[in-house]
Amino acid sequence: MEQKFFTIKFDEYSSADELPAEDRELVLAAREATGGSYAPFSKFNVGAAVRLADGTVIKGANQENAAFPSGLCAERVAMFYANASHPDVPVETLAVTAFQNGDFCSEPAAPCGACRQVMAEVQKRSGKKMRVILAGKDRIYVFPSVDSILPLIFNNLD
Ligand SMILES: [Zn+2]
Repeated sequence: MEQKFFTIKFDEYSSADELPAEDRELVLAAREATGGSYAPFSKFNVGAAVRLADGTVIKGANQENAAFPSGLCAERVAMFYANASHPDVPVETLAVTAFQNGDFCSEPAAPCGACRQVMAEVQKRSGKKMRVILAGKDRIYVFPSVDSILPLIFNNLD
């Protein structure tokens, strides 16, 4: 037996002001996207924004439903719309943020497992690494690719 470790390398910022301009703009777009959230059940408003390789920014927000499994996370709303409307343009960066109890959450909102799996396929489909920004108000994580937040990615396409 041999013990192995995964090492995840990412950048941490203490506010959106510290980010490079394009990333800051994407985080602001994700914050703006929380306004489109429909979350009467969880009261947890999630906003996502993706920047495509051609510079297009697409926003998404979580959409809940009384039949719970019928709702969808902000990340998947944004990614699916990006791929549906611009199928040949890679998604370069995805930013996620959350709003609760009248303010943006201090800590980064981590995507659920299903969204990470979709991120993996969006990244694989384009053949380019997709950066992921998890933006809290007081802490922002920037990951160089989806591989960083989903080790041992399920993949039946090879
Ligand atoms: Zn999700």
